[in-house]
Amino acid sequence: MRLSQYFMPTLRENPAEAEVISHKLLLRAGFIRKSASGVYTYLPLAQRVLKKIMQIIREEMDRQGGQELMLPILQPAELWLETGRWHVYGPELFKLKDRHNRDFCLGPTHEEIITDLVRREVRSYKELPLLLYQIQNKYRDEKRPRFGLMRGREFIMKDLYSFDRDEEGLEISYRKMYEAYTNVFTRCGLKFRAVEADAGAIGGSTTHEFMVLANSGEAVVAYCPDDNCGYAANLEKAETKFIPEVIGTPAQIQKVATPNVKTVDEVAAFLKVEKKQILKSVLFKADDGYVLAVVRGDREVNEVKVKNQVDCLVLELASPQEVEEVLGAEYGSIGPVGVEIPVIADLEVKHVLNAVAGANETGYHLIGVNPERDFSPAVKYADIRLVEEGEPCPKCGKALVFARGIEVGQIFKLKDKYSRKMGAFYLDENGQQKPIIMGCYGIGVTRTMAAAVEQNHDEDGIIWPAAIAPFEIIVVPVSNKDEQQMKMAEEVYNLLLNAGFEVVIDDRDERPGVKFKDADLIGIPLRITVGKRTVNEGVYEVKIRRTREEKVFQKEELVDGLRQLLKTL
Ligand SMILES: [Zn+2]
Repeated sequence: MRLSQYFMPTLRENPAEAEVISHKLLLRAGFIRKSASGVYTYLPLAQRVLKKIMQIIREEMDRQGGQELMLPILQPAELWLETGRWHVYGPELFKLKDRHNRDFCLGPTHEEIITDLVRREVRSYKELPLLLYQIQNKYRDEKRPRFGLMRGREFIMKDLYSFDRDEEGLEISYRKMYEAYTNVFTRCGLKFRAVEADAGAIGGSTTHEFMVLANSGEAVVAYCPDDNCGYAANLEKAETKFIPEVIGTPAQIQKVATPNVKTVDEVAAFLKVEKKQILKSVLFKADDGYVLAVVRGDREVNEVKVKNQVDCLVLELASPQEVEEVLGAEYGSIGPVGVEIPVIADLEVKHVLNAVAGANETGYHLIGVNPERDFSPAVKYADIRLVEEGEPCPKCGKALVFARGIEVGQIFKLKDKYSRKMGAFYLDENGQQKPIIMGCYGIGVTRTMAAAVEQNHDEDGIIWPAAIAPFEIIVVPVSNKDEQQMKMAEEVYNLLLNAGFEVVIDDRDERPGVKFKDADLIGIPLRITVGKRTVNEGVYEVKIRRTREEKVFQKEELVDGLRQLLKTL
């Protein structure tokens, strides 16, 4: 490929609309252009990267017995009504009508479509298990599309669905996908972790998210530094070894005036107590009812863990008005003593013996609160707090480390959720009708490309891992005016093409500075400079984009040398 003819519109300046580094660099380096909010065109450079990611995914899915098919993007509402998701999916579902006024949506996911296919075609246990997948555009009408390819309204995903006879079969399919995903992200050259994630009310116990580690990641990953232990979870799910810490000595419960004292910090300063001696209370609306969550003042409530304890569809923070209505006090003065609504207290709370809590009377707190003595016996104790960095690993006790990550894949056990709702049954060996047991497994393809940039860049541009780089090598003649340089550049370009490398030559009539800057910006792993030294000494200078190291090769060493180098990048 010749850059003089290549459609690669680079920008000199950082585009104003771009908020994150992958968005900035992919725009600047001529990989993507915005067509509408959250909708992008993938230019030739991006298309090469995406095809490589997809090829790796296909190979790993096929290796585990996956069979590729293509499901429709346009999905009839009837199927979504069967599962109830037409109404509960929310405004993110792109809905539309055809000319006969029939409802459709643009698929954000394909459980309905594929369950419909399988229920009509699969009859017997002999046809199971099945692993079916596709790579295709998906649609979500995001309220605020942002961060470029990170949160678009149209994006490319690989989605695989597994169909098994029973939960043991599902476990096998799940493990296959865990292995496939590990291989995919390893082969893409990305640093990642597979973390335990919250499955919510529907998913049962196990789900894993695959997180590409990057400082700009929106999610926090807690992991054990001991590779033999391997514990890793996202922050919503992360647990710690519970070590009861008894704080204070029992005293009389007393009401004290705390005028205009609201936050935990203010209470601690006003009453001269440590934050961990204060009980922090948060009121949630859980479907039609309320629940009060209580953690130590030095901790934070984990909303996901609370929701799992309450078993409700929607859990949200109560408004200040609702707090007043339900507890009769302003937010800064509420507490668990004497309330009639359900209370869930964190495991640590039980051991705070001389605690401070809101008195449910604006401007007052209780001191000397003893949870076992003063809480209603109906109070439920459970792990409902966020884990903090440095707390002990729940498996081995070593101090947990936090890192930021970008979710690029998730594997999930659906069990019989969809097959029961949609009537996807099979006949077992004894002629018994049973629901097909399902799993679903997604990889964000365009998101993986963006995450790769978030993880691999410097101030000059992108640094592609060789496995997913648009090209492996760029040949740069320093001066187009120098006939000898151009001749030798063309020679080495053809030599490398014939040797099977993915190589591009920068034959544009530009100053060397411009060519070098563009090569760095696009992020091609290896750059071969053909300049005076090549002409005079017959050697080729190879610059490694990632380390900025320069190596010098004789012509006859070049092919092997480049092959070796690429293996390390
Ligand atoms: Zn551990």
